Amino acid sequence: MRVALISDLHANLEALTAVLDRIDAARIERIVCLGDLVGYHADPNACVELIRERGIACIAGNHDLAAIGRKDTEHFGAAARVAIDWTRPRLSAANRDFLAGLPLTMRVGGALLVHGALHPEPNTDLHLSNDRRVRASIERLPEHDAEVCFFGHTHRPVAWRLEAGGLARLHQRETHLIPGARWMINPGSVGQSRDGDARAAFAIFDPDARTVTIERVAFDQVACLRKAAAAGLLVKESRLRKAARKAADWVDYGRTALGKRLRRLSGVG
Ligand code: ZN
Repeated sequence: MRVALISDLHANLEALTAVLDRIDAARIERIVCLGDLVGYHADPNACVELIRERGIACIAGNHDLAAIGRKDTEHFGAAARVAIDWTRPRLSAANRDFLAGLPLTMRVGGALLVHGALHPEPNTDLHLSNDRRVRASIERLPEHDAEVCFFGHTHRPVAWRLEAGGLARLHQRETHLIPGARWMINPGSVGQSRDGDARAAFAIFDPDARTVTIERVAFDQVACLRKAAAAGLLVKESRLRKAARKAADWVDYGRTALGKRLRRLSGVG
């Protein structure tokens, strides 16, 4: 049974629907979500409702916990804090309850899922972005009786492999899970990629074939940025604002009201 792994949706409905369409077209039987359903973008309720309707099992991310008031935002960047303050009063009671019920870890196809890191305890906050931190988490896998862990939070697709020869960081579309090694794998972000490729990212895990494949999906970036702009979420110097500036450059929206608005909001002119 193949499993699609989605992470860091961040209330980006255009990216989420594009990814779900691709997953459906590939006839993948099961979808699981590594957390951060909300934050940054302007469709938190629609995204959480879609996940609930589809029966997609999720674990909690730091933005999910912040949005329900279970985590304070003092360590969040300005754009993340503004988005959480905007999201909190708008989340429906049913969606808030759903986020409140999310576990910190889950198992799928023998693999362990966590949003942030496995060390010192499974958590939503530590970024696995350097060798030292990845090694500290990957060394916790035996106590969870797992060879493979999928994580999110950094918004960058990567496969880390620990074996006798040491720790390796792999950036490749398809990873073969050789036995005897331990793995920490990030499928990338659906709603806010941070690896220089603006498309949405997700992964397909085939536990029988022992493969993990990273997929990229284009979506209507201008549409979601327009909604974020209208909601006041394009905070100065934020990633969203920079994305809006790029989107305004990519497409000749110069003569349209949207192009003018995106250019003005992104400080282009
Ligand atoms: Zn995130």
